[in-house]
Amino acid sequence: MSVALYPGTFDPITFGHIDIAVRASRIFRKVIAVVATNPSKNPLFKPEERVELARESLKNVDGIEVISYSGLIVDCVREYQATAIIRGLRAVSDFDYEFQMAFTNRNMLETAETIFLMPSAEYTYLNSTLVKQIGRHGGEIGHFVPDCVKQRVLEKLAV
Ligand code: ADP
Repeated sequence: MSVALYPGTFDPITFGHIDIAVRASRIFRKVIAVVATNPSKNPLFKPEERVELARESLKNVDGIEVISYSGLIVDCVREYQATAIIRGLRAVSDFDYEFQMAFTNRNMLETAETIFLMPSAEYTYLNSTLVKQIGRHGGEIGHFVPDCVKQRVLEKLAV
């Protein structure tokens, strides 16, 4: 199999995202993490910061590239001739939204195949929002994100 896209907000990248990216990289020749600009989600980090942190965090994983994209994921699939869209499934609570997204994407592009991967059990509860909330209240986030991300989250929240 060849190219897979791994889209998300990555605000910021966590060990959960990295876990899924590593699993995908074992299946596909190339995995492109696609940082969605997503202004509607009111992200803490600018797209270029999210890309930089994702690149730094994934630099030791073979076959992974990080880009930012502001359009529809199906257009990105066409542009990169990707054969799959990777999404992580943490718990049943992710399923409803993911189900809608997968079918909507397939509706727009029949060949846009979504593949769901499950993270290591220790990351099933982890998401970027939680990391920001813990950081905001001075909690330890080093168990959830790489060092480079931790530093940037703390700097950002201190401003
Ligand atoms: P989105 O804004 O599209 O939800 P996220 O950045 O939150 O994007 O997540 C991108 C992808 O990574 C999603 O498929 C999400 O389910 C997955 N993901 C995020 N955190 C984890 C985790 N802890 N374990 C598994 N998958 C995860």
